Amino acid sequence: MVYPNVDPQPNLPALESEVLAFWEGDRTFVNSVEQRPLDDEFVFYDGPPFANGLPHYGHLLTGFVKDSIPRYRTMRGQRVERRFGWDCHGLPAEVQTEKELGISGHPEIIEYGIAGFNEACRSSVLRYTSEWERYVTRQARWVDFDNDYKTLDLPYMESVMWAFKTLWDKGLVYEGFRVLAYCWRCETPLSNTETRMDDVYRDRQDPALTVAFALDNGDRILAWTTTPWTLPSNLALAVGPDIEYAVMEQDGQRYLLADARLGSYERELVGATRVGTVLGSELAGRRYTPLFPFLADTPNAFQILAAEFVSTEDGTGVVHLAPGFGEDDQNVCNSVGIPTICPMDSQGRYTAEIVPWVGEHVFEANPKVIRHLKDAGVVIRHDSYQHSYPHCWRCAEPLVYRAISSWFVRVTEFRDRMVELNQQIRWVPEHVKEGSFGKWIANARDWSISRNRFWGSPIPVWKSDNPDYPRLDVYGSIEQLEADFGVRVADL
Ligand SMILES: [Zn+2]
Repeated sequence: MVYPNVDPQPNLPALESEVLAFWEGDRTFVNSVEQRPLDDEFVFYDGPPFANGLPHYGHLLTGFVKDSIPRYRTMRGQRVERRFGWDCHGLPAEVQTEKELGISGHPEIIEYGIAGFNEACRSSVLRYTSEWERYVTRQARWVDFDNDYKTLDLPYMESVMWAFKTLWDKGLVYEGFRVLAYCWRCETPLSNTETRMDDVYRDRQDPALTVAFALDNGDRILAWTTTPWTLPSNLALAVGPDIEYAVMEQDGQRYLLADARLGSYERELVGATRVGTVLGSELAGRRYTPLFPFLADTPNAFQILAAEFVSTEDGTGVVHLAPGFGEDDQNVCNSVGIPTICPMDSQGRYTAEIVPWVGEHVFEANPKVIRHLKDAGVVIRHDSYQHSYPHCWRCAEPLVYRAISSWFVRVTEFRDRMVELNQQIRWVPEHVKEGSFGKWIANARDWSISRNRFWGSPIPVWKSDNPDYPRLDVYGSIEQLEADFGVRVADL
């Protein structure tokens, strides 16, 4: 056989189009599924994209990888159905709809009307499906668009109910009041995964304040913070149990800070003499006067606690604790019976407890808090501090950490099993197994799965708001809802 001449300068796009046309005429993809046996299935899970925007480079690149695996399995004789899906719910849909309607944020959505807003979301989320189909087909990827699914379909949402109820029945889902990364613009908590995405950490200038807390014997202990707005919510101070603290005397006043941090405070401590040394473990239990009167009646508060996480890398070796605004803070404070108090509303503004600044956004209140503390004579140093700070991956506003009520999957319950099963997975490239992925699951924490949204799958929980009749029901199907409420819902 004579091999045909090959054009030395082929028109590659034209060749590709010929192949695509052949596949279509031959129904190659459909046949490649139907000709394989039903009892030898390979299941390929693909995260569905949003169709309220066009595909970008990242979608297409991963699309090639996602195409190779099912093709390989098909060539090995397995049946690989590839139903394409569309993610229709959640913040991306809401943000796009807010733009289109010219409104922004929670209160304006309420004013516009939730029903109308959700209708607008529904009409915009599937806008670009035909463009997606064209791109994905043109990149030679084999997927089934005819039998696609949408996360807004009732059967799909009912499957979310089923999954939630199944986890609930196994004791693997619970409601908790925990400190999470939170976006006050989007008014929602973010998962750990969302704060680990690219471009989340960016440089930001914040005020850095060293303040003096008055101990029960009149000595002053110095703490350093880059979030002065959390100082009105201070409920304790943390020291490292094995850290040595220097007692410095200046003009008859004694100051305490970590020995290792003295060098950074030479200017403030000029003329001071060292009169003693004390270990963090010896300071634990000492009481101090609150900086502000707002939370003065909080039980067990305003004492020094020993905590292993305290370091002498920066600051004074003394950490101010606001359990409503820090995970470590919450853990340490709760362990001695100090409650979690979070005087901030859903849009990042002080609530009624913080009397002089109620309704002010915490970032804007920073200068006022600092001014107040300066007037009170407790600010030892005021700097500007540039640090890497997490921002919202959707709206780019700086995040805050705050305690919030949220539903969690108890990942810690089956973490060890995941680590064990990871050993059976073949990773490409191999280092991912013990590297980024292995470390991620080994350190996995309970997963916050609820979001505060208008347009999404509901959490199927009915909870009594009457404290005299506490009751909580979890529903796993539309049938169960109908049995209890006598109404058959057509949408969720
Ligand atoms: Zn945001």
